[in-house]
Amino acid sequence: MSPLPAPGGPSLPAPRADLAMREGYHSAQVGAEVRLNTNESPYPPPPEWQAELLAEMAGIAWNRYPERAARALREAIADLHGVRPGQVFAANGSNEVLQALCLAYGGPGRRALTFEPTYALHAHIAHLTGTAVVQAERAGDFRLDPAAAAAAVSGVRPAVTFLCSPNNPTGLVEDPETVEAVLRAGPGILVVDEAYGQFAATSALGLVGDATPLVVCRTFSKTWSLAALRLGYAVAPGEVVGMLERVALPYHLDAVKQAAGRLALRHRQAMEQRVAGLVAERERLVAAMAALPVRVWPSQANFVLFRPEGRAGLDVWKALVERSVLVRDTSSWPGLDGCLRVTVGTPAEDDRFLAALAEVLT
Ligand code: PMP
Repeated sequence: MSPLPAPGGPSLPAPRADLAMREGYHSAQVGAEVRLNTNESPYPPPPEWQAELLAEMAGIAWNRYPERAARALREAIADLHGVRPGQVFAANGSNEVLQALCLAYGGPGRRALTFEPTYALHAHIAHLTGTAVVQAERAGDFRLDPAAAAAAVSGVRPAVTFLCSPNNPTGLVEDPETVEAVLRAGPGILVVDEAYGQFAATSALGLVGDATPLVVCRTFSKTWSLAALRLGYAVAPGEVVGMLERVALPYHLDAVKQAAGRLALRHRQAMEQRVAGLVAERERLVAAMAALPVRVWPSQANFVLFRPEGRAGLDVWKALVERSVLVRDTSSWPGLDGCLRVTVGTPAEDDRFLAALAEVLT
């Protein structure tokens, strides 16, 4: 038997060549009193939900694997949206849904199309699954014209096209005409990421059907105040759901998560009240920012993109961190020169942010 490699012996094997040049996901997790950088809800879920979950956990058969198809959870999600459970795929955060989509419909020799600037993980996850990524650009105002979107799809012929509505980090919603134009242009699957869907007035959910190559992704991380839970889902044609199940690891949804998600859906009204409160607070925040030397983009999400005038984005970000206010530095992202993104927090948090920003900029 040959000896194990000794210290100083041959180095570790090289990873996949196409990963060597890629950085992992990066979002600064620096300590700050006011954290407005990751678009979480500033409010916890209802205490009744927590009590119900604790009671339910007493009945879990811990020595057994969880129910593999997550049937009850998918039924509850299907009820929420008026679709069949067979049109719902649930996973560990909507990021895992996106990964499953790329595994099933992307992969070597296939292309994914994004419209930048948008959620960076669309391109990142596609790359990780060996899918080639074509990054088309939005217009200067970050809008995506239906004809331009359709032309990109016809030219690139992607296996997967990503839209994000409201779009992270710009906050803009996609016009329904754009969604329909992409669907008509085909080929491939259109993924509309609606992680912030309930903050906006429009949704692509109504277009989902078994004969339409459309997948809408949602998450419990934002509007449901459950970022710690890591639960997201897709509403999709039944055939697509079958493919996503095929690429998901067996028992990927643990028993606690299944119960927690199902019980959360009983508190829909509380969720809608939190969302309405955050939308009103967003409007207050945007109105207050109008008095400062920043450009602000209109948002239909729980965050606001802004560009300080005459100041480098990174300098402003650092000055805010010095005042214990953490926002997202998007200033080095393609197409977002000088921009920062702030999550809508509680009124007290937003006041801290506004005061710090005013101090830094004036
Ligand atoms: N899509 C978008 C547009 C997001 O902004 C996020 C979270 N930042 C996600 C998906 C991932 O959410 P989850 O926590 O469900 O993985």
